[in-house]
Amino acid sequence: MARRGARIVSCYHCGHRFEVSGKAESTSCEKCNQRVIVGDIVVKALMPVKSVETCGKLVVQRKGSVIAERAFAGDGVEVQGSIDAHVVSGGPVIIGRYARWRGDCEAPTLEVAGGARIASGRFAVPAPCTGPAEAAETAGSAP
Ligand SMILES: [Zn+2]
Repeated sequence: MARRGARIVSCYHCGHRFEVSGKAESTSCEKCNQRVIVGDIVVKALMPVKSVETCGKLVVQRKGSVIAERAFAGDGVEVQGSIDAHVVSGGPVIIGRYARWRGDCEAPTLEVAGGARIASGRFAVPAPCTGPAEAAETAGSAP
């Protein structure tokens, strides 16, 4: 059980699970010592990067655009703008009606609004190797 205001995150470098303060934006993994972003990443404009990684959520707003090789979000991904990346999400992926998506996607659950454009990508939902097993089971129960 996490303390009040604290949360459990999984390090995206080594997979180690540890507790962080709910207010923390970034921390160092207590096992591998690498910097770990734990806050949400909100993209409001063009963001060309090699990789974007957080234990929180990745939110791409309608005017936002992510161009990356790899995007990882432990708590989920919400795209209202455009994204071009190999996305690995530990939480639900939501692709909004104005979104443009290009790239592979691994997530426990996926929600695509009508009107969203998916140019290309291999989708693995539920992801075979990400997130806790129980999340994948819950996702599989939908009709
Ligand atoms: Zn680590």
